[in-house]
Amino acid sequence: MSTLTIAQIEEALDVTCDTVIRNEKYFSDLDGLAGDGDFGTSLATGFKVIKADLPGIDKSAIGAMLLKISMICSKHVGGSSGPIWGTGFMRAGMVSKGLTEIGHQQLTDMVGSALEGIMARGGAVRGDKTLLDALIPIHEKLQEMDGSDLGVVLAAVAQVADQAIDETRGLIAHRGRASQVGARSANTPDPGIVGIATILCDWCKHYGVDYTPQAAELNH
Ligand SMILES: [Mg+2]
Repeated sequence: MSTLTIAQIEEALDVTCDTVIRNEKYFSDLDGLAGDGDFGTSLATGFKVIKADLPGIDKSAIGAMLLKISMICSKHVGGSSGPIWGTGFMRAGMVSKGLTEIGHQQLTDMVGSALEGIMARGGAVRGDKTLLDALIPIHEKLQEMDGSDLGVVLAAVAQVADQAIDETRGLIAHRGRASQVGARSANTPDPGIVGIATILCDWCKHYGVDYTPQAAELNH
């Protein structure tokens, strides 16, 4: 890629809001298979505030915008997702502090810092069947790529997240409410991983990037 501007990142965030709001019931239904069924509502409650506030948010820098998004997540996203998503946006905002555009290396560093923060905040590791099982391989994929074509990058990370749904489906959750039901969490998708994959697939659609989702939850 060449660069991503603050306006482009704002647009991607707005598309993300639409995705989360549209999938409120579906994401909660998925969470209800093994968890407490609140994931979709928790996330949508916060992203409705982001959608409404986004036009007026401080856009002096990407970091300033993301730190504001982080604060909205911490305050308005319910359940365990609030601190997780809030931390992710905060760490991405710290890396992009003062910048009005970013290149591939900065994007990669933002994702890397976000997932490190989420691991530190929530105590989860790879294989615990959380959204980290999407974010960690996404970060690895970004590190492998040169970023010269943004569409190629987007299709590649969408595929990684898509694959993470089926690769983790058989795992037993070790974090969150789903961990309390033990084996019953096996053979259910992790809603956080489905959420990340759905957002990336919707970005593909919005930006006209050709990608055909494979997991059933992306074709429901
Ligand atoms: Mg839940």
